[in-house]
Amino acid sequence: MTSRFALMIEPVAADEERADFSGTFTAVDAAAPALSVGELSTQRGDGVFESIGVVGRHAQEVVPHLERLAHSARLCDLPIPNRDQWQQAVERAAARCGEGEWVIKLILSRGVEHGPTPTAWATAAPAADFSAAREGGISVVTLDRGYDLGAAERAPWLLLGAKTLSYAVNMAAIREAHRRGADDAVFLSSDGFVLEAPTASLILRLGDRFVTPAPNGGILQGTTQLSVYEHLAARGFETGYARVPASDLARADAAWLVSSVRLAVPITAVDGAPLAVDRELTAELNRYLRSPRD
Ligand code: PLP
Repeated sequence: MTSRFALMIEPVAADEERADFSGTFTAVDAAAPALSVGELSTQRGDGVFESIGVVGRHAQEVVPHLERLAHSARLCDLPIPNRDQWQQAVERAAARCGEGEWVIKLILSRGVEHGPTPTAWATAAPAADFSAAREGGISVVTLDRGYDLGAAERAPWLLLGAKTLSYAVNMAAIREAHRRGADDAVFLSSDGFVLEAPTASLILRLGDRFVTPAPNGGILQGTTQLSVYEHLAARGFETGYARVPASDLARADAAWLVSSVRLAVPITAVDGAPLAVDRELTAELNRYLRSPRD
């Protein structure tokens, strides 16, 4: 995914009020070097980020993404982003997207070692084509995440609820899934509960009830999951958060991985055992997720 647009952002205090933040943005050549070699985002993955889906030049769910960026920054003791400034940066990036599906990334890094300020930037790039996964589904394997459901509360320095730049573990889990012949992974807590996928939230259908792992157990609160729940509730379905035992995944009536750019992909098999796919509801969810949402 090559960026077509990049904007450096000079972060200002969260409470600074300005009608126009354009003076804090510098468009840079997306293909040229822009960061110092002393950047802590590259040296340590020390920073937080968001990936926002863009459909037909409309950036989806911008406020929930900015709220999660602020939440991640708080957990990492980074300066809280100024909501209006970042919203204007997203608008600037969205205006540079083309037709079809794109992705805007927002990055807030701790900056250069001993430097005065954090480094921040936004990029825009065309999204990969996920139509095959959305229609045909994906197989998953369950992988031990190595901590129990109490770890997030017991050890907040693990930053489990923050969307940090340190995705090496998440990418390793996807490679392990491929080695085992599956398309993606679902993490399990060491005490046997379902968590999330390396880059997506998990939603299960049990009859007419939908359930997703509670976000206080060391996973991200997914913006797409929240959106899907809003849609399902409007359709009259019961939705809820719970501790989901690993055994519930294999016996679910259907299950999806949901995320901002890939959207809703149905799970076709768990650890080699087939899972039913609800094609009609999947198509409906993706139609909804591709419609303009604020
Ligand atoms: N969980 C993890 C670990 C993720 O990386 C992501 C998305 O990037 C999600 C969940 C889903 O979040 P969202 O729906 O906001 O994209």
